[in-house]
Amino acid sequence: MNLPIVAYGHPTLKKVAAEIDADYPGLNDLIANMFETMYSSSGVGLAAPQVNYSIRLFIVDGTVMVDDFPELAEFKKVFINPTILEDRGEDKKAEEGCLSIPHIREVVERPDIVRIEYYDEKWQYHDEVFEGMAARIIQHEYDHLEGILFVEKISPLRKTIISRKLREISAGNVDVEYRMIFPSKKNLK
Ligand SMILES: [Zn+2]
Repeated sequence: MNLPIVAYGHPTLKKVAAEIDADYPGLNDLIANMFETMYSSSGVGLAAPQVNYSIRLFIVDGTVMVDDFPELAEFKKVFINPTILEDRGEDKKAEEGCLSIPHIREVVERPDIVRIEYYDEKWQYHDEVFEGMAARIIQHEYDHLEGILFVEKISPLRKTIISRKLREISAGNVDVEYRMIFPSKKNLK
């Protein structure tokens, strides 16, 4: 089932998400629905707050970009209760987008290597290091659990330039192929 994606300006995107237990109700269905939602909106990552669940869960599948980024070969994963333990390596700049902020792409600077501990969908514990585009996708999705959006990490000048577009997105004045929940409409949860 496709879930609606909350748009920029929605309060759920600004919350620090809560950890969950293995008996969190409907977790397997939620994960399956998040994958379906991510694929039908052509995303490579999706965090639970983006579908209006303020819990520490995100999914990724970057395998579609493996030709450009070999590090994404096996990069289809579920991250539950993740903690970034360490980031290192050079800061690298690359363009990012976000399903909650349609049609906006901006250059974001992030460390190239990240070490993260997390549980997968079978509640197996992992402590792993990711590099390159995998590290970037993880940091973008992890930020969602902390209530941080990539547009908060761009230069003040770029922020000013896109501020009107961001207001239009919050107001629902944006064309998207997927269902969204806009903060200024009545469907605000
Ligand atoms: Zn995002």
